[in-house]
Amino acid sequence: MSNVPAQAMAGSMGEGSPRVAKCRDCGEDIVWAKRTKKDGSVGNLPFDASHSVDGTHQLRRTAAGEVWADWISPKQRHLSQTLRVCHFDTCVMRPPRNG
Ligand SMILES: [Zn+2]
Repeated sequence: MSNVPAQAMAGSMGEGSPRVAKCRDCGEDIVWAKRTKKDGSVGNLPFDASHSVDGTHQLRRTAAGEVWADWISPKQRHLSQTLRVCHFDTCVMRPPRNG
């Protein structure tokens, strides 16, 4: 399942190559990215390793080599083919979040 279409986005703010890990709950491939929480602290969030048309976040690699996740507003999402969904929303081993 690695038949990824030719990279249409030759952006200057690429993702780099996020390190792929395995979800310890379901075993799916995930990538970790840093994200600033509402309280201003920084946390790590798992994202699905494959891009998704339902994605809400764009990953980018900083000059320091850190991978950060930026939330993309719905209006802008169609501009990018490289969005990802948070694995918390797709993990089959986690109960869905209700309200
Ligand atoms: Zn999982």
